[in-house]
Amino acid sequence: MISFVAKNTSILVVDDIAENLKILAKTLTAQGYQVRCATSGLAALSEASTIIPNLILLDIKMPNLDGYQVCRRLKADARTRDIPVIFLSALDDILDKIKAFEVGGADYISKPFQIQEVLVRVKNQIALQSAIAKISELNQELEERVQQRTFELQNVNQRLLQEIGRRKRIQQQLHHDALHDELTGLPNRTLLVEQTEGAIQRARHDPSYMYALLFIDLDRFKVINDSLGHLVGDRLLVAVSDVFQECLRENDLVARLGGDEFVILLDGIRDPQNAIAIGERIQQKLRSPFKLKDQNIFTSASIGIVFSSSHYDNASDLLRDADIAMYRAKAKGKARYEIFDRAMYYETLSLIELENNLRLAIKRDQLLLHYQPIISLKDNKLVGFEALIRWHHPTKGNISPVEFIPIAEDTGLILEIGDWLLRKACQQLRQWQQKYAAVPQLALLKMNINLASQQLQQPLFIERLDQILQETGLDGSFLKFEITESVLIEPEGNIQNTLREIRKRKIKLSIDDFGTGYSSLNYLRRFPIDNLKIDRSFIEQMNSDAENLEIVRVIITLAKTLGMDAVSEGVETPQQLQQLKELGCKFAQGYLFAEPLSPKVVESMLGKYPDSFDLTAYN
Ligand code: C2E
Ligand code: CA
Ligand code: CA
Repeated sequence: MISFVAKNTSILVVDDIAENLKILAKTLTAQGYQVRCATSGLAALSEASTIIPNLILLDIKMPNLDGYQVCRRLKADARTRDIPVIFLSALDDILDKIKAFEVGGADYISKPFQIQEVLVRVKNQIALQSAIAKISELNQELEERVQQRTFELQNVNQRLLQEIGRRKRIQQQLHHDALHDELTGLPNRTLLVEQTEGAIQRARHDPSYMYALLFIDLDRFKVINDSLGHLVGDRLLVAVSDVFQECLRENDLVARLGGDEFVILLDGIRDPQNAIAIGERIQQKLRSPFKLKDQNIFTSASIGIVFSSSHYDNASDLLRDADIAMYRAKAKGKARYEIFDRAMYYETLSLIELENNLRLAIKRDQLLLHYQPIISLKDNKLVGFEALIRWHHPTKGNISPVEFIPIAEDTGLILEIGDWLLRKACQQLRQWQQKYAAVPQLALLKMNINLASQQLQQPLFIERLDQILQETGLDGSFLKFEITESVLIEPEGNIQNTLREIRKRKIKLSIDDFGTGYSSLNYLRRFPIDNLKIDRSFIEQMNSDAENLEIVRVIITLAKTLGMDAVSEGVETPQQLQQLKELGCKFAQGYLFAEPLSPKVVESMLGKYPDSFDLTAYN
């Protein structure tokens, strides 16, 4: 609704006849309009452009400039163009209505005026005018709003596009991450499996298509990682992954499965020899050291190779067989490749069977301990025993610990077994101490117990140990734990604390199989170690091989220098004993003195002590 307010509405009345002017002015003023008058066309133009009126009442017939001309000029001037013009025509004028509208008139009134008509027409024009103004204002506002909205929309649109772009990138990244290894950037297991499944499919449709899988595991990577730090370990992994890539052809894929395990998918080979050649190239390239952080690092890899065959219908069987072949390469001495064959698979199956049997053996009490005497070479006296586990299988007979301890370690069964044998050996020694309390020498016998590193890693190991010591009433000073060198190079942490706690209980530590691992004098110094047990392999070859004799000499000297005692294991001949004595070895153990003995045999021997134990023959 357009409101009509006469008060603020100004009207210019133009007429050359003063009488007309007067009447109109009076009437309109009475209605509340502000009225201005002009008596000629020129005066009207000047009035209208100085103060813009809301409406002009314009007489047509005037001297000089007539109403049409005035109107035309008003419409030609931007300032006055929008003022509505109502023509006034005398009765005797021939009102040219067409012309009146043509020159831009809004309306016309014929004289003599009927004042009511004038007022209505004026009012209408003013209302129309203000409606137009309002519409134009609204239009303007609308325009501005549209512009504002358009601007906002453009902004939002822009942001949306950016967001979509960002999400796309994240999605691509996520997709990439889901299929690649973070450290090396190589494809991961998922992508490898995908591609391998593709190769299996292809081989099914195209019998001439061949592929191969190479399962690569770095040798002794854990030792490098633990001794030189994870940073160096990581760099080595990146460096070897570069080497693998250099050895491949365009279509081949190398993936990192995790840790130090890599798998290469050779896509489309003409001949098995191609795969072998790549395996050999990798071995050869790894022979040169990697220069990382100013150190030369040597590494090697064990590789298992499996070739496409019609009986493969999924990637996991292929990976399993490549893995089996890789394990075989490790078992055969590492730094080599092995090609998978069916026999390997069945051997692995029998390993699994062994594992299952071992679980049952624990439940069915088929495990027992034998005790091998340890002799002091100074006076040929018995100083203690090494507890060695035995597995008596009801149908398979005795199974060697060399066979089942590694499986127990791999499967974690070693924890259960270790716990059992720690308790058993402590009970046994305590029982003998009590039984032979009257013989001073026997009351001081020690017990050596082999500990796997996983046992030491158990958070509750010390608690269990304390419990066993308390239950059996055995003093820690009668115990010696045999650990391997690899335990010592574990990074500072749980194991180290556990070793300290063990020492607090006066339990001694002995490094088993010394000389076969990756040892460093630093590690040996870090812990108060009591014994170095020289590995049987060195003793065995001592007489036939000058180099081994030298190694034994060096170890004995090293032990002395570090304030430890050397213990030789696997002493079988008087000649070896003689040499060890000359070299100043303190203790020995071996078939020459006694095999690992059942508790019964030990007891019959201890019962006749010292007669049963005349070692003077070895002098
Ligand atoms: P090891 O700790 O180095 O044990 C010494 C091995 O040498 C024993 O083999 C022992 O019977 C054998 N031996 C002793 N004297 C002679 C000798 O004069 N000549 C020869 N040829 N061999 C000799 P065994 O009992 O078969 O144990 C083999 C390995 O199994 C042990 O090596 C040890 O690593 C592991 N093992 C045995 N018992 C346990 C155990 O209770 N706990 C753990 N964690 N490992 C054990
Ligand atoms: Ca041992
Ligand atoms: Ca040993």
